[in-house]
Formats: sequence, C-alpha cells, structure tokens
Amino acid sequence: MKIIRQYELVERVQAYDPDADEELLNAAYVFAVKKHGSQTRASGDPYYSHPVEVAGLLADMKLDAASIVTGLLHDTIEDTDTTREEIARVFGEEIARLVDGVTKLSRLELQSETTKEAENLRKLVIAMSSDIRVLLVKLADRLHNMSTLRHIKDPSRRQRIARETMDLYAPLASRIGMERVKTQLEDLAFAELNPDGHGSIAARLKKLREEGGQQVPEIEAGLRTTLAEGGVKAQVSGREKTPYSIWRKMRTKNVDFEQLSDITAFRVIVETRADCYSALGLLHERYRTLPSRFKDYISVAKPNGYRSLHTGLIGPLGRRIEVQIRTRDMNDQAERGVAAHWLYKQGGPSTDAPQYAWLRSLVEILDKAPSPEEFLEHTRLEMFQDQVFCFTPKGKLIALPRNATPVDFAYAVHSGVGDTCVGAKINGRMQPLRTTLVNGDQVEIVVSKAQTPSPTWERFVVTGKAKAAIRRFMRTRQREQYLQLGRSLLGKAFHEEGYELTDKGLEGVLANFKQASVEDLVAHVGEGLTTAREVLLAVFPGLKPQRKGGAEVVPISRARPSGRGQRAAATTQREAAAGRIAIRELIPGMAIHFARCCHPLPGDRIVGIVTTGKGVTIHTIDCATLESFGDSQDRWIDVGWDAVGENAGSFTGRLKVTVANQPGSLSSLSTVIARHEGNISNLRIVNRSLDFFDMVIDVEVADVRHLADITAALRATPAINAVERARN
Ligand code: MN
Repeated sequence: MKIIRQYELVERVQAYDPDADEELLNAAYVFAVKKHGSQTRASGDPYYSHPVEVAGLLADMKLDAASIVTGLLHDTIEDTDTTREEIARVFGEEIARLVDGVTKLSRLELQSETTKEAENLRKLVIAMSSDIRVLLVKLADRLHNMSTLRHIKDPSRRQRIARETMDLYAPLASRIGMERVKTQLEDLAFAELNPDGHGSIAARLKKLREEGGQQVPEIEAGLRTTLAEGGVKAQVSGREKTPYSIWRKMRTKNVDFEQLSDITAFRVIVETRADCYSALGLLHERYRTLPSRFKDYISVAKPNGYRSLHTGLIGPLGRRIEVQIRTRDMNDQAERGVAAHWLYKQGGPSTDAPQYAWLRSLVEILDKAPSPEEFLEHTRLEMFQDQVFCFTPKGKLIALPRNATPVDFAYAVHSGVGDTCVGAKINGRMQPLRTTLVNGDQVEIVVSKAQTPSPTWERFVVTGKAKAAIRRFMRTRQREQYLQLGRSLLGKAFHEEGYELTDKGLEGVLANFKQASVEDLVAHVGEGLTTAREVLLAVFPGLKPQRKGGAEVVPISRARPSGRGQRAAATTQREAAAGRIAIRELIPGMAIHFARCCHPLPGDRIVGIVTTGKGVTIHTIDCATLESFGDSQDRWIDVGWDAVGENAGSFTGRLKVTVANQPGSLSSLSTVIARHEGNISNLRIVNRSLDFFDMVIDVEVADVRHLADITAALRATPAINAVERARN
C-alpha cells in the first residue's frame, strides 16, 4: 500500500488551513514513525501507516492541526514506551490531553462483555462532552481499522469490532452530523456482520448498473435542464446508496428490491436558501411528485444540524427518484457535521449548541442509570430513532424520537411533569397517553400532584429519559412489594414451626445467602430467589428438611401469553428466579389466545380483548378485527410482552410471498428461511399464474425482529418478487 508522505499530509492540511503549524505537524509525523519503529499491522504494513492514515482521514474532515497531530500520536501511549508527560513536554498540554482521551477509549475497547461495552459508552460520552475532538479522532481511528478489518484472522474478534461499530460508533457519527463517516462505518460493519446480505445486494446493484447503463447521467441531465430553464443555477449529481442503507430500507419499509425508487439519490446543490425552494418548485411543476416523500429539514433542521429538502418524483425517463436539495453550506454541514464549523470557531463548537441537547440528556441519564446495560439500551434506542417535532401550548418546539407518546413529551418538558401526568390534550382534544405523536402536534399535558408513573407506560414510551424515570420508580415500588411479600412468607414459615421471626435471627445467616442486610435477604425471599424454608433451616439447623411434595411457593403467579398453552412450573420458577416479576393486567387463570387473524409476535404492539367464556384474545394493535370492538372499550385490556428470553420458544409469523414460477425458486426460498433459523410450519399457494406464485407461509420465529430479518433476506433473494407480513 501507499502511505501518505509527510509533506503530502502537511500540504493537505495547509490547503484548507494555511495557518496550520507546519513544524508541529512535521514533528508529530516523525515522532509517530520513530516511536512505532518496526512494529507491523495485521496486514503486514508498518504500524505507523495506521496513525498516518488516521491523520489523513482527519485532514479529509478538515480538522484543526491539534486534531491531526492527535491522530498521528493516538496509539503512541498505548503501543510504545511513550508517556503522557513526554507528549505534554514535546507537543504541549492540549495535545497530551487529547491523546490521553483517545488512549483511554482505546483501552476500554480491549474489554468485550456487554457491561464493559456499556461502560465504554459511558466513558466515551463523558470524554466527548469535554472535548468532541476526542470522538472525531476515535471515529477516524475506527474507520481506518474497519477498512483493514479483513486482515484480522480471528473471526469472533472481527465480529465484535463490527458489532460495536454498528451499535455505537455509526450512531454517534450520525448524532454529530457526520453522515459520510456514518455511512462508511455502517457499510463496512454490515459487510462483516452479514456477508450474504451485503453480497447479494452488491451483486444486484452491479447488475442494475450494467442494465441501467446511461440512466443516471440522463436523469442528471434532465433535472439540470429543468432547473436551468427556470433560471436556477445548480449542480446535479446522482449517487448510488450503499448496500447497508438499501438493506435497512427493505427491512423497515415494506418494499422489495424492485420497488426501491431510490437506489440512486440525486443531489441538487444551489446557492441560496431561496434557491432551494425555487428548485423544489420547478421540479414539482415539471414532474409528478410522491407527496409522502416530501420533507423540509430546512425549516426544521434535524437535531444533529442536518438541513435539506427531500422529495420524491417520477423523474426523467419515468423513473421514481429521490432528490435532495440544499445549499453548499448545508451540504458541507450534512457531510462533515460538527467538523464543518471547525476552523471558524476557535476552540471548536461549544457543547451548549442546540445539536448537543442530546449529549446533555445522555449525561443526565448516565448520572441516574443504576446499571450500565440499562443505560446502553436506552441510548441505543434513542440514537436509532428518527424524530418528530411537537409543540407546547406556548409554541416551544420539542424534538422527540419517532413513535413518541405524550408521556415522552411530558418527560422531555420536565421530569416533574412526566412523573405527575394524567392526561394529554393533543391539538385541543383529550387523547390516551399511549397515542403516537406526529409531526406538528400541539401537546398540552394535564398533571395531578397525586399521580405517580404507571408501569404500563414503560411499554409505550420510547425516550430514554421517560424509560429511565419509569424504571426508577418501578424498581422502588417493586422492592417494596418484594419486601412485603418476603416478610409475610418468612413470617408464615417461622410461625408454622412455632418460632418468632426476628431481625437478629436473620442477621446471623446473611452470609449463607450472600446478602448484605436483613432487608436484602427479605427482598431476596420475596423475589423467589430463596425460599422461606431455606432461611428457616439456616436459622435453625436442627429442623428436619420439609418432606418431599410440599407445595412450592411461587411469589406471584403471572399469566403469560403463550402460543403453546400454559408453561411448565419449572419455567415459571426460572422466570421468577430471574427476577422478572412484572405487573400484568392479565388476570391469572384466564385462558389467553393469540388471534388467528393477525398472529402477534413478541415485539409487536398488542392489545387484549376479553371474549366472554373464552378468556382473552391477543391482537396486534393494528389488526383490522379490532374495529369491531371499537364500541366496547371495557373489553380492552392493556397487555405487554414480558422480556422474552433465549428459550422463549417460537411463535408463528405469517408471510405473503410472491415468487417467480421457475425451477429452484421454492428451494431458494426455503434455504433462505432455514439459514436464518426460521422453520416453515405451513405453506399454501393461494394464486398461481404463468409467471408467479402467491403463497402464504407460516414461519416459526422467536419474535418480530427475527421475522423482519427473514423478510429482508427474502427480499434480497433474486427469485423472490415480493414479501410482506400477512394481515387477516
Ligand atoms: Mn488506532
């Protein structure tokens, strides 16, 4: 490979920053080469090629000299005999602090379990909130490591790095508006995590490119002409989307490869903001528009600062296309995010900027989240959602993730408002708290001092802030319940043998059960992790163990929706032991059925309908059958899925599939499903023509995500024409 030379790097930096400290850059380059000496990378390249490439990527982002120098030095503390003090002496305190920050993050990466991973994120967020350049260098480091990932021999290590890139670094890049880095990270990670999916989409893209020939240049020319005739000066360019972004679209939207209008996105760059709207007007006048595709991120920018107009058209050559219209500045911001402002603001953008509201809320959650895993879960959720924008009665704009509810809104306004909310007026009308908010809603929260967070809220809120607050409240309340239950179970057990239950007695056996306090032990019993009898026997070892066949005490028996009738007692106990006692609205003992019209899967939003003499039927929230129960609200029961463990068993998902009527179609269908660990339990051909079969397939899956994976994989399969989840 060709390594960027010292003078090349300096020239690249000086091209956008003529005042950059040349001597400092030269010194850092030489320092890195000397310190890494004869070390080599997994690829066989000299090690110093890595920091030099990272510095090159930072120069592509047009960052300041301190960031470039940090890129050059970022592995010296970790991998050579260099100390922080030495760097401070040679390069100054600012650089030493930045290199130290990157080193700390890199050390965290060497650890792998989930807890550590979450802990990494905590530290990462803290480091970022002090100086975002640490994150920028880290992102460049990760980008270069991903592009050389194939040289690492250990497949599980490659997988871990790719997973972390997908889950952590790509969303972070997106959050600071670095769209290009995000896209590259995602696509490199996708190629490692799902080589089949990546390969098949890349192959189909290649085929389309060959068939399409001159289509892209022709569409570009058509758009250009339309704009020029209307007097708007514009640059037009078409760019192919990455396999990962196409894959994601096939997964989340109900589209097949052939229906994807936007394998190529067209970008129109104009001079002024007013030109953006003129260009939009001209295109809408000339071509048929797809109204649902129009988005105005200029009037309301995305929280990461992204501004652009998006629209969908039946464009030149009659092709459905996606067009993004923006000024040069907006484009720069869209591609380089936070780095776009770098050179113009000494010291870099302040963390008080509106784009950093998310960062502040992360730090807030971080302060309050008791376990790192919980923090990670919330953060991931938050980072993957698109946004909706709603308003307070006074007109203040509140940005929320997609699918947010009035409860999320209330917590976003103030945690006190969230904790005490009892109702919401959306656009002047009272609406249920679980209503999904849409863009432009005006929301007024009704509060009552007597109200406390309801556990049922957790099933529909989507923001980390609301989830964390509700969980915190529930944990406290759950603990109270465990204590109460534990007390009464112990009291009963002791009393039956004629003993008095005393704290003193319990204190003596705390060590036996590895508990720190009497309260902890009592709660432990209440939670079903230890039986009261065991505690009794520990306190009075002389007692005979209870005869076999004695009734087992299960703390709270819980109805659980199950496709297979009631579960064995062992399962219930294991679940109780896992501490997953959730408060359910399902009445234990009532039979629970899954509606045959909509086949609910774990992960679906569901609702229960009381059916006289037949217990409760579970439907998905969007099931058409529900309309017939619209008038009898008292039969509706609020239900939610319990956490579904690995051995949760399988559920039936129903797919409607159209395959080409050709040899091998069915076998590739079943191969794809089997490869994704789905099991076909039923297959019915509902329609047959010369060219196609329409079929309904029942697939046993673990949950709705599993079904979505299979759906996406099928959509990427050439012989398969259309796939969708069957409803009714
Ligand atoms: Mn590195």
